[in-house]
Parts: sequence; C-alpha cells; structure tokens
Amino acid sequence: MLPCKLESESLTEYLLGTLEDSDKQLVAQHLATGCETCQTTLAQLRETLALIAYSVPLASPAPALKSQLMAQITAKPVIVPLPLPTVSFWQKSWVKNSLRIAASLLVLTGLGTQATYLWKYRQLVNQQAEVIDKLTAQVDQKEHIISSMSTSRKLVVLEGNLIKASGRAFWDTDQNTWLFHIEKLPPAPKGKTYQVWFITETEAVSGGVFQTDARGSAKVPLKAPIKNEPIVGTAISLEPEGGSQKPQGAVYLSASM
Ligand SMILES: [Zn+2]
Repeated sequence: MLPCKLESESLTEYLLGTLEDSDKQLVAQHLATGCETCQTTLAQLRETLALIAYSVPLASPAPALKSQLMAQITAKPVIVPLPLPTVSFWQKSWVKNSLRIAASLLVLTGLGTQATYLWKYRQLVNQQAEVIDKLTAQVDQKEHIISSMSTSRKLVVLEGNLIKASGRAFWDTDQNTWLFHIEKLPPAPKGKTYQVWFITETEAVSGGVFQTDARGSAKVPLKAPIKNEPIVGTAISLEPEGGSQKPQGAVYLSASM
C-alpha cells in the first residue's frame, strides 16, 4: 500500500468540521477507501479533542462549533475492511505529535478566545451590577430625603457662630415637629449639655437638650412647644447639665426664618 498523501491539516480540519464542502467530500472519499493510517489518526485526534473539550470547563464554545465538535467526537467510525498494517508517514511519532499539537492549538485558540470573552463579559456584568446597586442606594437615599422634605415643609439651615459646626432642621409646620441634623459640634464638656431654643418675637422657648457623639454628630427629633406666636428663629447653646430656663451659655448654631 502506498503511503497516505492526505495532508495533516485536512484531517484536523475535517474533524473540526471547518473544511469546505468539496474538500470535505475528498477527505470522506479517501477515508472510505479504508486508509488505516487516517483512521488511526482520526481516532487519536478525536481523543485529543474530547480531552481538550472537557478540560476547559469555563469555555462555552459557540453553539455551531460545539455541535460540530460533538458530532465529530461522537461520530461512529466508518467501518471498512482493514488493509494490511504498514508503517507509513502518518504513524511516525513526530507526525502524530504535530497533528495533536495542531489540533490542540486550533481548539484551544478557539475555546480560549471564547473563554476570555466570557470572562470579560462576566466581569462587565459584575461591574454593571455594582454600579446599579450603588445607583439604587443613592436613589433610595434621595427619595428618603425628598419624602422627609415634602412632609417637612421647611428646611432650616443653621449656621455655626463660634466654630465651624453645621446643622439642618426639617420643620413640619403642620405637626410643628422638628428634626435636627447636627454636624461638627464637639461633645459638650462634662457637666454641660446642648440645648435647642425656639425663638419668637418676644422670647426663647426651650425645645430640649441633647449631646453629640464623638464625631460631633447628633440627630435630634423635637416637638416645638405650642405657642401663639410664630417661630422666627432657632438656636443651639451650651448650657449646664439638665438645661436652662432661659438661654445663658454661648450660642453655637442659629438660624432665623
Ligand atoms: Zn489516509
């Protein structure tokens, strides 16, 4: 029997299903002649491809390529009368090896590229999910602020008088409730407390006492004492523990309406 003249690339491509129809027919015709070397090589290539296919779990080949591969891998070998065994070009080990390598490279390049795309795609999806989470949290926060502002008809901004403290107060004029957010107001010294005052044209009425935390922050909900006179301002002063009847200490924050 003459040495087989089929080129290695043709056989590999035949197995991968990437041959042109005319070439595919030629290879099929050749295989139908019962070339034992080609049958042996095909069997080896199928093994190699199957191993590679199963050893790349992350990769998700394109459906067309996958079905081609699976069809080739699971295809029943053509049953032909066995010719006499001969040592041929195809059985030399270096040819086998280069065939294996060629097949591996073909498959790995394809699957590897797809695995990379898949990985990048997953990364992108994860990044987008993070961004969406952050935006959702921001929207929630803003909606919360807006809703608290819409029930509180007025936002009162308090300015620091002695130090760079700051404060905001949401004033619900219907309920006459106040929610103070105080920032950067250092904790009161021992024996002292901060006191909120509601100021009318004629007097300052205590709203209550509070302390700030170590960061100088406090959230103080208060109900303003019911008065006939309208409230024209608010102030926060430092007073003796328990609070004062009338403001005596230094005023740290104030606002006028
Ligand atoms: Zn052959």
